[in-house]
Amino acid sequence: MFKIAVAGTGYVGLVAGACFAEVGHQVTCVDMDENKVKVMQSGISPIYEEGLEALMQRNYEAGRIRYTTDYKASYKDADAIFIGVGTPEQPDGSANLTYIATVARQIAESVEKDCLVVVKSTVPVGTNDKVEQFIRDFLVHNVNVEVASNPEFLAQGSAVHDTLHAERIIIGTESKWAEELLMQIYQPFHLPIVAVNRRSAEMIKYASNDFLALKISYMNDIANLCELVGADIEDVARGMSYDERIGSKFLNAGIGYGGSCFPKDTKALAYIAKQQGYELKTVKAAIDVNKEQKTLLYRKASKRLITFNGLKVAVLGLTFKPGTDDLREAASLENIPLLLEQGADVCAFDPVGADNFAKVHAAGKKGSGSMTYAATIEQALEGANVCFIFTEWGEIKAVSPGAYKNLMRTPLVYDGRNIYSVAQMQAAGVEYHSIGRRPARI
Ligand code: NAD
Repeated sequence: MFKIAVAGTGYVGLVAGACFAEVGHQVTCVDMDENKVKVMQSGISPIYEEGLEALMQRNYEAGRIRYTTDYKASYKDADAIFIGVGTPEQPDGSANLTYIATVARQIAESVEKDCLVVVKSTVPVGTNDKVEQFIRDFLVHNVNVEVASNPEFLAQGSAVHDTLHAERIIIGTESKWAEELLMQIYQPFHLPIVAVNRRSAEMIKYASNDFLALKISYMNDIANLCELVGADIEDVARGMSYDERIGSKFLNAGIGYGGSCFPKDTKALAYIAKQQGYELKTVKAAIDVNKEQKTLLYRKASKRLITFNGLKVAVLGLTFKPGTDDLREAASLENIPLLLEQGADVCAFDPVGADNFAKVHAAGKKGSGSMTYAATIEQALEGANVCFIFTEWGEIKAVSPGAYKNLMRTPLVYDGRNIYSVAQMQAAGVEYHSIGRRPARI
């Protein structure tokens, strides 16, 4: 068993830390955010992920995981330090590496024995060469530090499951010592490990995420064409899915991808290519389609209604996907400000995302409309003139078509997740607009 420190307790770092503890490693999770650390010390997860809190509590009681802001004490004698800090997008599309640089500096100041630094954060190809050099340049003690790449593939909403049952673990190393150490750390998970060099590992992460983003944008592009030519995207996807070369997953059309990864990782790879004088045309197309797709329903509704001014607009779902409280790049963040600008009175329901949305909303532009949050779906729908569905939470999917007809003032629904069958909604008397399917009869 190894002594592991994890830098950054977000979706990646905290889940990795808890899972390392679960398989028996001794884990210290480090975060610079004192409030977050206090929350974790009291046994509460600062993020919503199924199964995470139970894992944290079980391993805390077993003495295998602790939380601290004291990076020096945590890094000084760790066998491996995993980095899971953010690498957000900069205005030009490139990845912001300042958090990585800060951790690298903190590691260099602190380590007192040979150790492996393992970067889980998504970083541009070649970054880890620089991180290794940077740490070595600033080392205070005479020790050997190597850097490995170990990109993360978990999906928010199923992060614990995805980590404990990962389809593969990618390890990118430049020495046998680093490769073997990582193999041993991951051995208790009994998962397939793909060992490659550091730059290939960094590229595998971007190439995988961007391929998935491309698949989503492709299906959305085809869905939009389906509407124009009278085909149905669900039938089309079903027909495509039998081809094993295509596969059956990620063929759903919708309001576009969001979250902290696909949007920034597509832009980052396009930027990396541009720096090399290469135009990554496919990825650029995925980005362009997604941008348009995000506001597609708003634009459709704008054409249908004379104005949003004074209308009660029900919004079902605020988070970028179900199972998470994360709002990063969520469709709600683009569409609700547009509705408020137009004077709509927005009443939103989300089972876990309302508090986070309220914080973003408090800090942002308001418009002339009003923003309220409903405790129940029924409350959001009551008396509404129009409803937008942005996230396919289970409780939203469970709403019957009749509820829209009965509760709303005018049963006009724009569904960005194709939750309902067009026929059922029509039979219930709902004017239903979705993506890539036969237009509702008006
Ligand atoms: P996050 O923003 O949720 O968490 C980052 C954490 O790092 C924060 O808690 C922050 O306080 C902490 N931090 C910042 N500087 C620190 C420092 N010097 N020392 C200790 N802690 C520090 O980020 P995330 O969503 O977990 O993503 C982390 C990385 O993993 C990104 O590169 C992302 O692209 C990648 N990734 C994310 C996901 C995902 O689904 N969220 C999946 C795969 C890969």
